[in-house]
Amino acid sequence: MPGEKLYDNHGRQINYVRLAVTDRCNLRCFYCMPEEGIKYVPREELLTYEEMLRLMQLLAGMGIDKLRITGGEPFVRRDMMDFLRGLSRIEGLNRINITTNGTVTAPLVPELKSMGIHTVNLSLDALDPQRFFQITRRDAFAQVWETFEALLEHGIHTKVNAVVMAGKNTDDIIPMVELTRRYPVSVRFIEEMPFNGAGNHYSVLEWNHLRILEHLKAHYPDIAKIPDPPFSTSHNYHIPGFQGTVGIIAAYSRTFCGTCNRIRITPKGMLKTCLYDDGVFNIRDIMRAGASDDQLRDTFLQALGNRAKDGWEAEKKRTFGTPASESMATIGG
Ligand code: SAM
Ligand code: SF4
Repeated sequence: MPGEKLYDNHGRQINYVRLAVTDRCNLRCFYCMPEEGIKYVPREELLTYEEMLRLMQLLAGMGIDKLRITGGEPFVRRDMMDFLRGLSRIEGLNRINITTNGTVTAPLVPELKSMGIHTVNLSLDALDPQRFFQITRRDAFAQVWETFEALLEHGIHTKVNAVVMAGKNTDDIIPMVELTRRYPVSVRFIEEMPFNGAGNHYSVLEWNHLRILEHLKAHYPDIAKIPDPPFSTSHNYHIPGFQGTVGIIAAYSRTFCGTCNRIRITPKGMLKTCLYDDGVFNIRDIMRAGASDDQLRDTFLQALGNRAKDGWEAEKKRTFGTPASESMATIGG
């Protein structure tokens, strides 16, 4: 029925969609995909912009008020700005946020601001250009930094996301925290997850959320916990006198599943009700088979009625592959 809200079988309301608009990317972050890249989805298998606009219109009518555009790298998909403008006109979608690697984003920032994009999450794992290169396998630090400056200049709320990796960028943690001294940004340290498309992951995560916090406390003894926004995946902190804040996201340890309010839609239209599941149904196929809006709504309600309670249960219920067999570029983070 139109107007029916999306709740899962654990009583959690779903009001947030993460939409991965492409699996293509111009970086090769080693924690996300192998050096040779991944086998990209053929174009005709990607959800079209028209299909995504229809879906978001429908989901906005079911109580989704927050959307994150992610990928792959969203801005390598052609005509992305037209699509974003279309999304910005959907009634009820109050917040449209974007996650980007920032390599080609700087010139687009004024237009993003004018269409009301609320927050941009900029992925930046190192402030040292050499280390940036080692991690992303591309020489693009300068362009990403330009995006960082453009976002601040245009007053777009900016979160900097850094995946913490043993032996790769732990020397960047403190310089990244120092960004929050000078700039009103939120720097968030993310535990590395298995989704690297390479098929392997360590059995023990050396730099988990506890170790990251210990490291911060050792350098900033007066760092203070601040209240986390509702449904936040990050635990947030502030250092007295600093302009910004610091967050830690226990993405691998999964400490936040109990309040999860989000679903994911992959570039080829697979619905994921948990990051760690292997997909619940393909929305694209159902739309292309001619489903009505009512049928689509029913399918979403049914899928949410059978949702794993947390990421551990979702991972256990997978029927193909481990999370490490998937690249995060095919999910969106
Ligand atoms: N290309 C864009 C970017 O990098 O911001 C958007 C897509 S990317 C898959 C979304 C987020 O997922 C990024 O912040 C990235 O750092 C994060 N990510 C990718 N692989 C990850 C992994 N194995 N563990 C933790 N975070 C990961
Ligand atoms: Fe590309 Fe983002 Fe994956 Fe890096 S994390 S390879 S930028 S999709």
